[in-house]
Amino acid sequence: MGEPGCYYSVHMDSTWLVPVSIVFGVIVGGSLVGLLHIAARRGERAHQVATAGVPDGVDAVIDVLESAGLVLDPSNQVIKASPKSIAFGLVWNGALVHNEIAEMAARVRRSGEPVTEELELSRGPISDANLVLSVRAARLGARYVLVLAQDRTESLRLDAVRRDFIANISHELKTPIGAVGLLAEALEAASDNPDQVRRFALSLTKEADRLARITQEIIELSRLQATDVVIDSEPVTMRQVVAHAVDQNRVVADGQGVTLVTGGDLDAVVNGDEALLVTALHNLIANAIQYSPRGARIGIGVSAVAGIVEIRVTDQGVGIPEDEIDRVFERFFRTDPARSRNTGGSGLGLSIVKHAVQNHGGDVRVWSQVGSGSTFTIRLPEAATTAVPVNGDRQ
Ligand code: ADP
Repeated sequence: MGEPGCYYSVHMDSTWLVPVSIVFGVIVGGSLVGLLHIAARRGERAHQVATAGVPDGVDAVIDVLESAGLVLDPSNQVIKASPKSIAFGLVWNGALVHNEIAEMAARVRRSGEPVTEELELSRGPISDANLVLSVRAARLGARYVLVLAQDRTESLRLDAVRRDFIANISHELKTPIGAVGLLAEALEAASDNPDQVRRFALSLTKEADRLARITQEIIELSRLQATDVVIDSEPVTMRQVVAHAVDQNRVVADGQGVTLVTGGDLDAVVNGDEALLVTALHNLIANAIQYSPRGARIGIGVSAVAGIVEIRVTDQGVGIPEDEIDRVFERFFRTDPARSRNTGGSGLGLSIVKHAVQNHGGDVRVWSQVGSGSTFTIRLPEAATTAVPVNGDRQ
C-alpha cells in the first residue's frame, strides 16, 4: 500500500502568523498615518504660505461682514470672500468676476494708497441686472488687497425718484400758477366790463381750486410714503367707508346725472385708518364719475371671502388703453393729459389709492377695456372676528 493519500496540506500550525501580521499591520498603518500627517503638515504650510501676511482676525471679520468684502492675493485670486460679495456676484466659483475690481487692486498695489470708486457692475458673470456699488480697495499686509463694496443701487434709485417727483411737482404747479397770474391781469384790464369780470373771476376760482387740490394731494402722498404701516389702526366697517366716500362724491355725481349704487357685505370689517380708506375709495369713485358719460351708473360693491375684503368700483366709462393700464398707479401719470387737466385731475389720485391700500397690507387692481369701462378693486385683509385659538385648541 502506498502511502496514504499524499496531498499537500497547508494545515499546519499557524500561530506564528498572528504576531507577524500585527507587526506588519503596525508598520503599514504607521507609515500611512505618517504619510497623512506629512501631507496635512504640507497642506497647512501651503495654506500658511498662501495667506501669509493676512493679518490675524481678518478671516473672522470678513465672515461677519454685512457688506461685501474680499481679500485678493497678488495674482487676484480670491483668498477670502464674505457672503455678500458672493450674493452681489463679485465672486463666482471662488474667482473674481469683474476686471474693474482687479484694475483697482492693481492700482492699490502700485501706489500703496487706498482707492474708492463708484462702479456699475453686473450681478455675476451672466446676469443682466446691474448693481451700483461704492467700492474701496486698500492694502492688507504686504501681499494682499482688501476690497469692500457697499450697495448704492437703492439709494440712487430713491434719489432719482425724488428728483423726478420734484420736477413733476414744479411742472404741475407752473401751469395753474401761470394761469392765476394771467387771469388776475385780465381781471384788472376788464374792470369796466362786468360780464368779463364774472367770467375771469370764475376761471380764477377754478385755477385756485386746482392749486389747492394738487397741494393737498402732494401733502397726502408724501405723508403716505413717509410711513409703511398705518399706526392708528382700529376696526372699520365697510358701511362707514362706503357711506363717507359716496357722500363726498354726491354733489359731483348729481351734477353729472350719475347714479351711485352700493351693495354687498357692507358689514365686513377691516383694521385700519378710516380717513385713509375713505380717501382711497373717494378717489376711485371720483375717477369713475370723471371718466364716465353723463347719466352713467357706477357700482360700489363689497365682498368678504376667505379673510379678504374686496371693494369694487365699476363704471361703464371710457376705459383705459391696454398698453397704459400698468402705468395708471404711477405718480402724475394720465392717459389723456389734456382731458385730465380740463377736469382738474392731477394724476396723483391713483397713486394715493395704491399707497393708502398698501399701508393697510392690501393691494389695488384694475380691469379695463376701452369703450366698455373699468373696474378698480381694493383688497384688504379682513379683521379677525373670532378669537385666535390658544395653543392646542386648533383642530
Ligand atoms: P387723475 O387725477 O388724472 O384722474 P389718477 O391718478 O386718479 O389721476 O388717474 C390716472 C389716470 O388713470 C387718469 O388720468 C386716467 O387716464 C386713468 N383713469 C383712472 N381712473 C379711470 C377710470 N375709472 N376710467 C378711465 N380711466 C381712468
